[in-house]
Amino acid sequence: MPFKIIVTVKQVPDTQQITGEAMKPDGTVNRAALPAIVNPEDLNALEEAIKIKIKYGGHITVISMGPQKATEALKECYYRGADDVILISDSAFAGADTLATSFTLKCAIDKIGEYDLILCGRQAIDGDTAQVGPQLAEKLKINQLTFISQIIDITEGPENRMIVKRSTENGYEILKSALPVLLTITNNANKPRSSSVKRLLSFKNMVFRKENTPFEETGLDPKYLSASEHFKVWDIESLGVDKSLCGLQGSPTRVKKIKDVVLTAAGTKQISGSEEDISNLIRELREEHIIG
Ligand SMILES: Cc1cc2nc3c(=O)[nH]c(=O)nc-3n(C[C@H](O)[C@H](O)[C@H](O)COP(=O)(O)OP(=O)(O)OC[C@H]3O[C@@H](n4cnc5c(N)ncnc54)[C@H](O)[C@@H]3O)c2cc1C
Repeated sequence: MPFKIIVTVKQVPDTQQITGEAMKPDGTVNRAALPAIVNPEDLNALEEAIKIKIKYGGHITVISMGPQKATEALKECYYRGADDVILISDSAFAGADTLATSFTLKCAIDKIGEYDLILCGRQAIDGDTAQVGPQLAEKLKINQLTFISQIIDITEGPENRMIVKRSTENGYEILKSALPVLLTITNNANKPRSSSVKRLLSFKNMVFRKENTPFEETGLDPKYLSASEHFKVWDIESLGVDKSLCGLQGSPTRVKKIKDVVLTAAGTKQISGSEEDISNLIRELREEHIIG
């Protein structure tokens, strides 16, 4: 049974490549100083989508809200096996917190229409909140299963259900949900496949096209006419949404202050291995709610 799958992808600065220029003097991230990559757990989400497509049949649409540069992340998803890639981009979407981000993604998903599954990464490595997936499910009024490390089975039709595994601190849980459902996928779910070299070479110069923009304006060779239908940009007009609910305007989060925290050895304490010292340490950690 073919499944209609939507994968959400965020382009993030590669936080593994932190250099001296990574932060601006005002304490915000200097995105220009860091290479941009696809958020790692979004590649795990995409890989699950590809595995489902191979096993059961399906169609994968990848969406990303971000600046024009995020087309690079979307192209990478296309090279890996996505069918359609859509950039949601407009100056009105800039400065979005998780609430405005999930609102805008929800509007894009409403525009896509039907779906059986939405796959998100568990967490972005820059914002790090892990809120966007759950907020999106709330806004779409569909079930959500978070922190998923394995998709065990899916069936559509009268028995319409999905069975997944969630890893927990002490073991795992097996969960079942009706479709449609939103899953957030963790990095131990799979090892994402590499890009197809054939797709990369064929589509590396592909241009994303705004709705209602004639193909001729892309400057692409006419042989790309049908392929270009799979690379789209939607702006605020295409989504037809209220500007006041998007971007900075629609974001109640205010960052008042950002502080560098430098951990020094000043607070270290050495204890002997005696029972008394260990008991005292456990008591202290309990009192400070460091351990339960
Ligand atoms: C303290 C703080 C200050 C911030 N300040 C600013 C700021 O000033 N300006 C600014 O622009 N941003 C700012 N942000 C970033 C912004 O709020 C978040 O990046 C954004 O809302 C997404 O949240 P997240 O990165 O925590 O994603 P998470 O909730 O951790 O992401 C979970 C999953 O949701 C999906 N997802 C998340 N974002 C997108 C997206 N854009 N498109 C598609 N899928 C997505 C992905 O699948 C991702 O794996 C700030 C964040 C924090 C924590």
